Amino acid sequence: MSYLSNIDPEIADLIEKERQRQTHGLELIASENLVSRAVLEAMGSIFTNKYAEGYPGKRYYGGCEFYDVAENLARERLKKLFGAEHANVQPHSGTQANMAIYFATMECNKDRLMSMSLSQGGHLSHGSPVSFSGKMYQVTQYGVDLETEVLDYGVVEEIARKVRPKVIVCGASAYPREIDFKAFQQIADGVEAYCMADIAHIAGLCASGVHNTSVGVVDFTTTTTHKTLRGPRGGAILCDQENAVLVDKAVFPGMQGGPLMHTIAAKAVCFKEALRPSFQEYNRQIVKNARRLAATLMDRGLRLVSGGTDNHLMLIDLSDRGATGLEAETALGKAGITVNKNTIPRESRSPFVTSGLRIGTPAITTRGMKEGEMEQIGELIAVVLQDLHDEGTIRRVRGEVAVLASRFPIYPD
Ligand code: PLP
Repeated sequence: MSYLSNIDPEIADLIEKERQRQTHGLELIASENLVSRAVLEAMGSIFTNKYAEGYPGKRYYGGCEFYDVAENLARERLKKLFGAEHANVQPHSGTQANMAIYFATMECNKDRLMSMSLSQGGHLSHGSPVSFSGKMYQVTQYGVDLETEVLDYGVVEEIARKVRPKVIVCGASAYPREIDFKAFQQIADGVEAYCMADIAHIAGLCASGVHNTSVGVVDFTTTTTHKTLRGPRGGAILCDQENAVLVDKAVFPGMQGGPLMHTIAAKAVCFKEALRPSFQEYNRQIVKNARRLAATLMDRGLRLVSGGTDNHLMLIDLSDRGATGLEAETALGKAGITVNKNTIPRESRSPFVTSGLRIGTPAITTRGMKEGEMEQIGELIAVVLQDLHDEGTIRRVRGEVAVLASRFPIYPD
């Protein structure tokens, strides 16, 4: 960082402060992870200097020979990881991967999209009125059963038959249970709709066989590369060969200009890492850790949405404690435990306040923490949630968090 410190000490200082925050705290945001040094190096490389509009072998700029090799490596590795026929690694983000599928399959201001509502676990880009997706398409949303707090596929099918959408989206940002991708594709087939699975959160789990996979099952799979896949921030799309041209055209020139080639190089590194057997072991541990953390929180009297978790995340329902998600996020943040407030199925508060907390284990599992540490973290969270305004407890927990974090360095030398 010596060049940066000389040219822009303000930014260098902020990066150093963030390094300290990540090092001494616990990152429990379910959508985050910690990339390897190799991924960081590829991302911070001179690959950022080049325009490479188009695809390998068909670029609109000269000098792309090394970029073609890198993008092909990324595509082939991602295909191998998921057993897919076709991969597009150019979307700049998960939202843009979803946008590309909508562009590939639907007519703007005309066609109908069906998806899970944001307040019950879906994502903004699945048709929320404040997102392009809700403004450009006619959206109908399904949610979870309010008693069981899990998806009811019979109800999803009923809605699909009534609405007859062009695309049915499955996949979520805050759903702690396994999603049955086969059931969604069957429902879509029954109403002659496309099925798109957004596996942004659970991609690593799907690639590792810890969660059933959508690839080869649904028409289109989209993902981010920075969550359980543990790569650079970005998106990707997987589909069968018959839809390959449709998808590629929708990404470029349909939606994006020049691909972020430094990010694509870093995606290639991430996929290589994910093809190692240790990645499967890592994803198994993510789920074991989530289960143990969930059990500890429930033992301490906290209510979890749907009564637990099958994946990497859980939702704490604070509504019976008279506390809001915002207050809980703030108190835990002061204690060095980073989480995010989240709506829960019977939400009565605004998305900025909420009655829930979303907690995930990908980043702490990357640090090497296991079930024993999950019990300790569960206890620390429960103690803070006991009295959100007890500054003495928050200070004590912060000290314990720092000691725990120091045993699991992010980038051990
Ligand atoms: N899809 C799902 C299910 C997500 O949870 C997210 C982000 O959290 C996205 C898409 C969007 O990803 P991005 O922030 O890269 O646009």
